[in-house]
Amino acid sequence: METMEPGDCEVEKPSMASLFARQREAFLAEPMPSLKLRLERLSCVERLLRTHRDELLDVVSRDFGHRSTHETYGAEIASTLFLIAYTRKNLASWMRDEPRPMPWLLFPARGHLRRQPKGVVGVIGPWNYPLALVLSPIVTALAAGNRVMVKPSEFMPGTAEWLTRRLGEVFPSDLVAVVQGGVDVAQAFSALPWDHLMFTGSTTVGRHVLAEAAKNLVPVTLELGGKSPVLVHRDMPPGRAARRVLWGKCYNSGQTCVAPDYALIHEDRVDDFIAALKAEAVRQYPTISDNPDYTTIISDRHYARLCGLLDEAAASGAEVIPLHPESERLDPSVRRFAPHVVRGAPDEIGVMQEEIFGPILPIVPYKTLEEACAYINARPRPLALYVFDDNKRRQRWVMDHTCSGGVGINEVVLQFISEGLPFGGIGASGMGAYHGVEGFDAFSHHRAVFTQSRVHLMSLITPPYTSFLSRLFRFITR
Ligand code: NAD
Repeated sequence: METMEPGDCEVEKPSMASLFARQREAFLAEPMPSLKLRLERLSCVERLLRTHRDELLDVVSRDFGHRSTHETYGAEIASTLFLIAYTRKNLASWMRDEPRPMPWLLFPARGHLRRQPKGVVGVIGPWNYPLALVLSPIVTALAAGNRVMVKPSEFMPGTAEWLTRRLGEVFPSDLVAVVQGGVDVAQAFSALPWDHLMFTGSTTVGRHVLAEAAKNLVPVTLELGGKSPVLVHRDMPPGRAARRVLWGKCYNSGQTCVAPDYALIHEDRVDDFIAALKAEAVRQYPTISDNPDYTTIISDRHYARLCGLLDEAAASGAEVIPLHPESERLDPSVRRFAPHVVRGAPDEIGVMQEEIFGPILPIVPYKTLEEACAYINARPRPLALYVFDDNKRRQRWVMDHTCSGGVGINEVVLQFISEGLPFGGIGASGMGAYHGVEGFDAFSHHRAVFTQSRVHLMSLITPPYTSFLSRLFRFITR
């Protein structure tokens, strides 16, 4: 007799397409959820995070190898809770119909803008902030009244499992569903006829997602990566800039879409800036090998890639400068990658071409601000530009003469958790934005509503057209 194995009697999981069909059906049955219902849904996400906070710290850390508890608290849990609080506070006003002015000729007709849920939203997430970059789009899509399906990164299997299990406990799958899998699943996911598709990941994969979405004319938000520059003015004390740049470069071990990628430093200040970075590295991380605040690189392959970038830089004649005394002693098998600076790198090598996504900072010396901005403008538009300068006139000049998704003045990274600000890229770093009202807008259809009054001028403008009308048009277009 055959014996039953565990799992034999499990109910077969619904396919991605049938989940999508169910969500569509459920959306049509409830196309305009009330404010109360939307707020309840946000509270469910909030309760999940608060109830399972400690479990989450552990799950995410195991997926990374080691993830700093503070980084998971700050960038994943607290940031999502901030988003929920901000959304809750503003949702009623975002949902309100907005009167719009009408041309006098149409008087006394009225016009207004009505924000309606788009329907079923697809979300594809990356691995580097595996909770926040899935939960934040879920929160915003639900706030806008949508149903949502997510495909978390396959590099974070524990977190993906946690999302599947815990979201499944609080939401029916026709409201929120998680689909797990690798590239083949992701490709099939991006080929579904979503009402909106949000992708967070690399620029290369973003191109594929956009091409798939175009086949169904699906509107997309693409949150991509790239090389975000730091521009430090000659007058800025090197220690002040170095403190923030080192922090941003080592936060999550540089595996952050808005991490400073390279630094444009005035040629007279390069030595001072590197000395200040070294001092900061030791001050912020007295040790690296056993420091719980230092996050590991996600995988051996990603670690080897960073080593390869440094080897290539050294072979090209660039100066590779370790910022921390422990650099040489770290065990590659634990994947803690010490911060390094690369000086004098030729333009064609990896550190100058690829998004680094690790604690390596190339330094590019400049002579004038014009030259520094020309360097930025000659490259794809970045997700963020960081300007370290106290002079407001020059800050404005740099912003006027460059273009990036967002700007940090005398700060790095924190624009991401400023909920009132839209977050998104431009050009190669992405399209569309979320967070704040812009996120609500991204997941809402802006419907134009024209309401005619009982008595109106237009009744005069019907055939047969009169000479009065000709005179009127001649007057209007004189
Ligand atoms: P990735 O592009 O390799 O993968 C992201 C997601 O896309 C994963 O879920 C993956 O399964 C899926 N995917 C892979 N191939 C696909 C395909 N052909 N079609 C559809 N989906 C596919 O990115 P990653 O390595 O997980 O994350 C790192 C990148 O993400 C970096 O470039 C980083 O800058 C960027 N990023 C951007 C933001 C932002 O908000 N702008 C935030 C975090 C990360």
